[in-house]
Amino acid sequence: MTEVREYSAAVDVAIVGSGPTGAAYARILSERAPEATVAMFEVGPTISDPPGAHVKNIADPDARARAQAASEGPGERGAKVANPGAAKAGVRAARPGTFLLDDGFAFPGEDGLPVAAMSSNVGGMSAHWTGACPRPGGSERIAFLPDLDELLDEGDRLLGVTTDAFDAAPFGAIVRERLAAVVDEGRPPAARVQRMPLAAHRREDGRLVWSGSDVVLGDVTRANPNFELHDESLVTSVLLEGGRVAGLAVRDLRTGETHEVRARYVVVAADALRTPQLLWASGIRPAALGRYLNDQAQVVFAARLRDVEPLGADAPTTGLAEHSGVSWVPFTDDMPFHGQVMQLDASPIPLAEDDPVVPGSIVGLGLFCAKDLQADDRVVFDDEHVDGYGMPAPRIHYRLTDHDHALIERARAEIVRLGEAVGDLLDSRPFTLPLGSSLHYQGSTRMGVVDDGTSVCDPDSRVWGVDGLYVAGNGVIPTATACNPTVTSVALAVRGARRIARDLTR
Ligand code: FAD
Repeated sequence: MTEVREYSAAVDVAIVGSGPTGAAYARILSERAPEATVAMFEVGPTISDPPGAHVKNIADPDARARAQAASEGPGERGAKVANPGAAKAGVRAARPGTFLLDDGFAFPGEDGLPVAAMSSNVGGMSAHWTGACPRPGGSERIAFLPDLDELLDEGDRLLGVTTDAFDAAPFGAIVRERLAAVVDEGRPPAARVQRMPLAAHRREDGRLVWSGSDVVLGDVTRANPNFELHDESLVTSVLLEGGRVAGLAVRDLRTGETHEVRARYVVVAADALRTPQLLWASGIRPAALGRYLNDQAQVVFAARLRDVEPLGADAPTTGLAEHSGVSWVPFTDDMPFHGQVMQLDASPIPLAEDDPVVPGSIVGLGLFCAKDLQADDRVVFDDEHVDGYGMPAPRIHYRLTDHDHALIERARAEIVRLGEAVGDLLDSRPFTLPLGSSLHYQGSTRMGVVDDGTSVCDPDSRVWGVDGLYVAGNGVIPTATACNPTVTSVALAVRGARRIARDLTR
C-alpha cells in the first residue's frame, strides 16, 4: 500500500536536498529560529537510520550494499570501483552509492568530466563520503569573507570533526614524521604535515562512527516539531512571483503527483550539477550559472613503509577504512596540492604471496590539484535532453589548460618524492585518475561580492536578483580549491542560514 503523506501547503523555509549543506540550513534554523517552519525535500530514498547516516555505520554488509544501491539514482546501475586508487586512468565507473551522467560528460575536443558522480538519497553524498575535512589555505581561502575561520569552526561543529579517530592506528606518527622531514621546512604551523581532520568519532566501545547529514541535523533538528523531511520528492521548479521566491513545485515520486508548496525562502542545496539544473529549469539563469565549474585533478600512488617492526600476533587490526584520510599535507600557494595520505590494511598493488602485509604499513598517497578557473568550463542545459528524473540533463564543457597540465606533472613528481620519503614505492609510476574522480566538482553557482556576471550569489548565498532564493553546496565556492570542499560548503551554508534566521526573527 502506498503511504499517503502530506506536504505542508506553506512553510517559512523550503530546502531542496538533504546533503550536509541542506542539513546545515535546517540545523542552524532549528537552533536560531525554532518557531520557523522548515520543510526539506529529497529526491532519493531514506537508506539509513537516523536518516542521513553514513552507510559505513551499517554493520551488516548486505544491508550496507542495499543502501548503497538505493542511492545510485534512476536508470541502469553501472560498473563500480571500490576506491579511486583502484580506478586506472580511462576506466569509467562510479564508486558505490554514486551514479554517473548517462551522457553529456565530455564533448569532442574537450576533456570533460567523465566520472563526475552524484548520489540520490537522504544524506546525499555524505552518506558515502570519506569525511576528510581539511581547511582551505592560501589562495583557496575566500578573501572577501572576514568571518571565514569562525564559519569553519561552525562547519567542524556541525560535521562532528575530530583529529584523533585514528590515533590507535599503527605507524601514523611515523608516516607524518617522514613526510614532515621533506615537506615542513619554511611552512607556518598550520601548513605543516598533520593529522587529517575527519568527520568521524570513536564511540566509547571503540567503534568508529562516520558523520553524515544525520550528525549535521543533530538532535535539535530531529526534535524540532516545525521541521519536516520528505524523501522521494523531486523538486521540479522554484516558483517566483514578482521577482521574489513564492515556493516550489514538488513531485511525489511515490504517487507521481505534483504539489505546490508556498515558501518565503527557498534554499537549493542539490549538489553542484543539480543546483544549477533546478535554477535553469525554473527560468532563473544568471550569466554565471553553471560556469567556472572546477574539479580537482587527482594523482595517486602507493608506498610501503620501510623499517617498521611487524606487529605482534595480538596487535589490533587497524580498523581503517580503505581510504580514510589519516594524514594531511596542506595546500600552499608554493606547493598548490592538497595531500591526503592514508594507511591501508591491504595493498592496492598485488604483492608476492609469501610477502604478508603488515596492517597499516601500506601507504596510499593522493594529491589533489586546484584547477585554473575559466568561465567556459561549465555545465549547461537545454530543452532537448533530459536526465533519468525528466529534468534538463547536465551537459559538461570542461578543458584542462596548459597550466593545469603542468600542475598535474608537478603533482606526479611530488607524489613520487613523498612516496620515497615514507617507504618503498609499490609501482613504477603514479596514476592520474580520470577527471571527476575527486567528487569535489564546484563553482557552478559561485559566490561573489558584486553582481558583475561572474557570480550567482552574494556572500550570504542569496541569488542575485531573486529575493528569498539561496544556493548551497560546493557550487558556491568561488575559489579554486585543492582541499576537500565539504567543510567549506557547510561553513558557507551556516552564513546563509544565519541570514535567514535573522530575517525571520527580526
Ligand atoms: P549532496 O551531498 O550531493 O546532496 C545533494 C542532495 O540533493 C542529494 O541527496 C540529491 O539527491 C538531492 N537533490 C538533487 N536534486 C534534487 C531535486 N531536484 N529535488 C530534491 N532533491 C534533489 N568531500 C569532502 O569534503 N571530503 C571527503 O573526504 C569526501 N569524500 C567523498 C567520498 C565519496 C565516495 C563521495 C561520494 C563524496 C565525497 N566527498 C568528500 C564529497 C562530499 O560528499 C560532498 O562535497 C558533499 O556531500 C556535498 O554536500 P551537498 O549538501 O552540497 O550535496
